[in-house]
Amino acid sequence: MSEMWRNLIPTPQSKFLIVTCNECGNNQIVFDSAKIVVKCNVCGAVLAKPSGGKAIILGKKERTLE
Ligand SMILES: [Zn+2]
Repeated sequence: MSEMWRNLIPTPQSKFLIVTCNECGNNQIVFDSAKIVVKCNVCGAVLAKPSGGKAIILGKKERTLE
């Protein structure tokens, strides 16, 4: 398998996180390798944004879902 193809495969380390919205305190599940901007379901504040690999989490990380 070439390096090019290897790089396109998602890492098995991807996890789901519980993130608390900084604006309204809503708890929401966020994929830590999100490829799109994740917004709070309650107030619309941005909770995570993609960065090419791991998403940048803008809310407060509570815990990781196993
Ligand atoms: Zn919110």
